[in-house]
Amino acid sequence: MKKIIVTGALGQIGSELITKLRSEYGVNNVLATDIRAGDTASEGPFEVLDVTDANRMHKLAKDFGADTMMHMAALLSAKAEDEPLFAWNLNMGGLMNALEIARELKLQFFTPSSIGAFGPSTPKKNTPQDTLQRPTTMYGVNKVAGELLCDYYYHKFGLDTRGVRFPGLVSYVSKPGGGTTDYAVDIYYKALEEGKYTSYIAEGTYMDMMYMPDALQAIVDLLEADPAKLVHRNAFNVTAMSFEPSEIAASIKKHIPTFEMAYDVDPVRQAIAESWPDSIDPSAAINEWGFKSSYDLDKMTIDMLEKLKTKLNV
Ligand code: NAD
Repeated sequence: MKKIIVTGALGQIGSELITKLRSEYGVNNVLATDIRAGDTASEGPFEVLDVTDANRMHKLAKDFGADTMMHMAALLSAKAEDEPLFAWNLNMGGLMNALEIARELKLQFFTPSSIGAFGPSTPKKNTPQDTLQRPTTMYGVNKVAGELLCDYYYHKFGLDTRGVRFPGLVSYVSKPGGGTTDYAVDIYYKALEEGKYTSYIAEGTYMDMMYMPDALQAIVDLLEADPAKLVHRNAFNVTAMSFEPSEIAASIKKHIPTFEMAYDVDPVRQAIAESWPDSIDPSAAINEWGFKSSYDLDKMTIDMLEKLKTKLNV
């Protein structure tokens, strides 16, 4: 049975990952940590941890008897463009601390990269697993460096590092933390609350997306994957769908026929979106550890609207 410490556990992914891991491995085998306290604290072990504090991270992982570290704390793409130096210090400093502590305590290690690790010169359609990566955002620079560091710790120290490149993740439990694909979450809230949405991403801008249940299952499947079958270790391309704003609007309209979509494009997030692929190729993840997804756009829309109706009481 695993004993897992999770950083950034109150974020969009972490808040649901904790529940998933606790159901798979037992409530008391998963230590949630975050720089702030939150609801997860009442459901199982929780500690406040700033990932830039290596001493406390080491002590918490050791005292908990962790054999696995899942590093989720980060500043996301749009926020990182507002504060690039802060993003570098948090994203790289936190990752280095987490990798070093995993090396010292011999922990299995998981951290997500992102489609943000690609750039304008990357092939845009069916983007291969191994390809040109020259991102033009601070977030992308951090993610490429992080992918390389995780590979380095595997090759140099034999650390059992694993990771995926997530696309935009859509979920209803916690709101996203300041990424470029957040519109694909916000639109469902606004559709139910106001019957209309103004998109900051332009019509026709395709990006990869995935529904949270598929993302969580992918994390667990990769953690449990037979290492002998892994040709890659980190930064596996994973995706479930690729769409642009008018397509998600059309999917919502099937259930809320009066829904209206408008556009007020934010140049910063639009530029980030345009520098990313339209669709990525997940075949390495499929072949090496059996990655699969079960939600397409319409199935995700049905579930999002149903769950949010209850959550928002509308
Ligand atoms: P999020 O912004 O929702 O959550 C990040 C969490 O980290 C927050 O709870 C925040 O309180 C915490 N945090 C911030 N600074 C911290 C610090 N110094 N110490 C400890 N905790 C701190 O992010 P997320 O969406 O859950 O993303 C988790 C990981 O997945 C990140 O590496 C992100 O780049 C990656 N990712 C996310 C998406 C997505 O769509 N959500 C897509 C691709 C990759």
